[in-house]
Amino acid sequence: MSCVICSSETVLAFKSKLALAVGSDCSLHKAHLEIKQCTQCSHIQKKLDSSYRNSANKIFDEFNIYELSEGLEQVKFQDKIPKTRSSILINNVKDSLPQSGSLLDVGTGNGAFLQAFSDQFSDWDLFGYDLNENFKNRVTNISGVRDFFCGELENIENRFDLISAIMVLEHIESPGAFLKKLKSLLKKDGVLLIQVPDLGQNIYDLVVFDHVSHFNRENVVTFSRKLFEHVCLPENQIPKEITLLLSQSSGFSRELKIASEELSCGSVNFQGFENILEEIMSIDKKTAVFGTSPIGTFFGGLLGDNLAFFVDEDVSKIGKQHLNKKILHPNEVELNSTILLPFPPSQAMEIQKRLPSLKFIVPIS
Ligand SMILES: [Zn+2]
Repeated sequence: MSCVICSSETVLAFKSKLALAVGSDCSLHKAHLEIKQCTQCSHIQKKLDSSYRNSANKIFDEFNIYELSEGLEQVKFQDKIPKTRSSILINNVKDSLPQSGSLLDVGTGNGAFLQAFSDQFSDWDLFGYDLNENFKNRVTNISGVRDFFCGELENIENRFDLISAIMVLEHIESPGAFLKKLKSLLKKDGVLLIQVPDLGQNIYDLVVFDHVSHFNRENVVTFSRKLFEHVCLPENQIPKEITLLLSQSSGFSRELKIASEELSCGSVNFQGFENILEEIMSIDKKTAVFGTSPIGTFFGGLLGDNLAFFVDEDVSKIGKQHLNKKILHPNEVELNSTILLPFPPSQAMEIQKRLPSLKFIVPIS
């Protein structure tokens, strides 16, 4: 198979011995991760073959958005104040946006991003697009939403000042062709807002089965520059993720502080990562997991019968069950419990500081 972003030759970089992966909808799968790396651009990507596509399609067909929080968006803790990811993201880029315009949100799902945008900008015309109409009514009920599109992107006749694709690009088998389509839907000075997970900060992203691409800052910027004159990496970024603004015009970035070009993520130690997962699997006592995201779910699956319960700070999840185990709030946890903290080192440290009385195991520190 050739590289999904530059079409050069790829080599198998890693095949996991563990038969476990997680979907981005938090479903567990008995699949061996197979990771390829491009010999030219170094892009890390899933091995795309028929067995991968079958499993990925199955995840997609049964996809259940934010099941645990009843369709509410996952909450991030920034400066100790819980906010939705979308509202933080909009805050991070809002200095680049005019007071009015038209926005198309691609892969809009249940409209979480449009809702957050509508809350902050009342004079924009908003549009949603998705591959199915499951959430059409919910999306069109959001204040400011003018229409909902489904089917082929090419068939959309409107042109937009802003197009957002939040956590979409990493799922796409042909990201270049996809970005070109979005570019054709922009007005001349229009801006494309891209949000993807950052493998450079978060190696755990590898276990998310339906993430075809594992971008880092360096390669997503290089890749985007092939298609857009102006590529802007805002200074304010959500941890573990990359926000990019792309345009043919530079006007939009005038008011925006830009991140420094420290883009490199270094090389990925796949075998070292697998060794860590095997160590977790060999834990032989009841252990809890912090977080009910796909990564937390994956670690719950790794622990198997030794999974005690989940811990989450998101109050909408407390008291519910995940993988048939209880979800507890940090202050409900008995102090002698051991809790896995599968977060990148800097975030793991912040959580440990915030919750000093809990006993954590940090897989990667
Ligand atoms: Zn490549």
